[in-house]
Amino acid sequence: MIYPTVISKESNLVHIVKDQNTCVCGFTYNAFATFTKKDLKKIKFKPEKVITCPNCKSIIK
Ligand SMILES: [Zn+2]
Repeated sequence: MIYPTVISKESNLVHIVKDQNTCVCGFTYNAFATFTKKDLKKIKFKPEKVITCPNCKSIIK
């Protein structure tokens, strides 16, 4: 499976994107109400094996 992912700058973990503000685990990658092209660029479609956030991983299993 391929998932839309973002990398959190703080922890360097790869999360799965849930919506335009948060990840599946509840991590907020976009704190703003607006969603710009720049935000869209942060999202990379990657296979499951590159997901490093343990919470995101446990949810998709
Ligand atoms: Zn996560």
